Amino acid sequence: MMVPSTSNHSPQPPPSSSSIQTTTTNLNYLLMTPMNNINNQQKENYHHHQPLQNIKRKSEILPLKEELIENNDTKKFKNMHGNSDFNENKYDKCTLTMGDYYKRVGDQVIAFKVEQNRYFYARIVDLAPTYILVHYEGWPPDQASWIDYNGIVSDCDTVSFGPKGKESKLSWADFKNFYYSAAGFESRKNTGLVTDVQMNLHHCPCESERMIHPERPERLTSIFDSLHAKRLLRYFRRIHAREVTSNELLRVHTFSHVRNYYPLLSNTTQEQKPIKITSIAALLNYSPPSSPILKPTSYGVGGGGPVIKIEPSLQQQQASPSALFNPPELLYKMDCGQLGISVDTTYHPDYSRTAAKISAGGLIEIADTIVRGELKNGFALIRPPGHHAENDAAMGYCFYNNVAVAVSAIMEKYPTKIKKILIIDWDIHHGNGTQKIFYDNPNVLYISVHRWEHGKFYPFSGAPDECGQSEGLGFNINIALNESKDKPKAMGDTEFIAAFYHLLIPIARQFKPDMVFVSAGFDAAEGHPENLGGYNVSPKGFSLMTKIVCDLANELCNDRLVLSLEGGYELESLANSATASMAQLLSNNTSFKHSLNGIKPNLGAIESFRTIVDIQKKYWKCLPTQSNFKFQLPYEWKAKDSIMNRPKRDVKKPSSTLIIEGY
Ligand SMILES: [Zn+2]
Ligand SMILES: [Zn+2]
Repeated sequence: MMVPSTSNHSPQPPPSSSSIQTTTTNLNYLLMTPMNNINNQQKENYHHHQPLQNIKRKSEILPLKEELIENNDTKKFKNMHGNSDFNENKYDKCTLTMGDYYKRVGDQVIAFKVEQNRYFYARIVDLAPTYILVHYEGWPPDQASWIDYNGIVSDCDTVSFGPKGKESKLSWADFKNFYYSAAGFESRKNTGLVTDVQMNLHHCPCESERMIHPERPERLTSIFDSLHAKRLLRYFRRIHAREVTSNELLRVHTFSHVRNYYPLLSNTTQEQKPIKITSIAALLNYSPPSSPILKPTSYGVGGGGPVIKIEPSLQQQQASPSALFNPPELLYKMDCGQLGISVDTTYHPDYSRTAAKISAGGLIEIADTIVRGELKNGFALIRPPGHHAENDAAMGYCFYNNVAVAVSAIMEKYPTKIKKILIIDWDIHHGNGTQKIFYDNPNVLYISVHRWEHGKFYPFSGAPDECGQSEGLGFNINIALNESKDKPKAMGDTEFIAAFYHLLIPIARQFKPDMVFVSAGFDAAEGHPENLGGYNVSPKGFSLMTKIVCDLANELCNDRLVLSLEGGYELESLANSATASMAQLLSNNTSFKHSLNGIKPNLGAIESFRTIVDIQKKYWKCLPTQSNFKFQLPYEWKAKDSIMNRPKRDVKKPSSTLIIEGY
């Protein structure tokens, strides 16, 4: 039987079981095909079924429906909870009624999988008032999806498991125990995680493998696989992503840029748009800020050829019949032959716009939850990334500037609580878009640590003397790193931690933000090729950087901290680095003691830091100004032993009592 929907709008019913097209061939194909091919098959399915209309997704967090609890048989409800010591009210939200029986988090249900257009066995991962987060058994964890109550049925003839088959009952029992424990409840008040499977539909229509389009769906999948394998997903409160609204975009983007990727209602005219809010000065005396020193670039993030502008007639040929329209900026021919909206930025006519809207909207949603005080911090696993997107243009894999859009949304919604925001950008590339958007804003301090090489590294902006303008002068800090001419050496943990310790921490303390956002790119991580990175930051380095920002947020702004995924393209290195950073958010207990291989930054970093201090010292009195300052880190942070003399660890035999498969 169907479960009545608890949402106000009437959702369209899912297809009846008889109309579900399941053939054994199809299933066998899924069971026997390697994951890469399955991904392609899934993409095919999207094309054929237009699945996104089948199940409505939540567009905003609704208050818990009273009737959902009150209609329950209270006795039965109490029996299920047993004589637990915990406050029952806390757990009321954690039960799903299915007619006359109950389903709890961790239980198996039969759930509709939109992408496959049929039913699968699934496990309840979390419950929201009108939507349920389900993990489909036998499918990768990043395909877990929020579905509405109509998506769950008590019986179905054609139900099956995903390509990896049935999952361990013991694992799920263990997950359930944790979820309903005091520890589970406490940990879900600490750190949030927002993502949505729809963002992974954004890909180049050419379906090419890795190096042509580094910003690809597998980035999110690899991070999820890592969190799942390490059984970390259970510690996060899962936040439902929503699409950003056009009004939210218009606070930082121009009307024409928003319209290009976000068809506005036909009666919306330029005159009706809200005034772009970038600063108090802008509010009092609005005029468009002039562009900071940004050299126009004809090269993509990873290098590549110069721009080839395409004739409008050619552009028409790629227009997808299912797309409402193609953006007028679809003018660049990429290396793979497809048209892009920038020389390196792919565009799928069916999915990219939605993915970009969910990416920005998801970040707003988690930031809002943090400001409401329901969470201390959170991580937005989102793509496309945002920090290269300028107020008037998509660029460098980015459509909308997610962080800038979320910062503006929060500042407008909480004008008395959140007056000043610090944005830390540790992606290896300069966040030209974020800098440009807040360049005249004294209430948003942008601090970017990036590879610069005197303007020779993408996006070629981010010089140390780009300090902001008018009211915002002094509130833009570029920790622009150059190799030393004499001793060229890649930057790593020591150099990044030294930049944080000697420059970022004192400046943040002087600024006293009410909230901290991090543009958390992981392309400074070891393993990235020279054209996309070339640095050697380790997962340990990212966890220490995360600890520094956690400690700052704790000291300065009631813990309010949100990290937003930007770059990071080498999958293994990306997954390890992002996981290390996220684990640090969960439990901020890493020690700096004996954590670094070196405490002296390399010569290039020291020279770069000195240049920055010389420029910024007139705005920030807290900086170390002695001309011979060495930017060393505390001696006790140096590792005592190295890999060479470290004693071998006893290899523990894996426990045979419980087969753990994740979650
Ligand atoms: Zn392509
Ligand atoms: Zn980057």
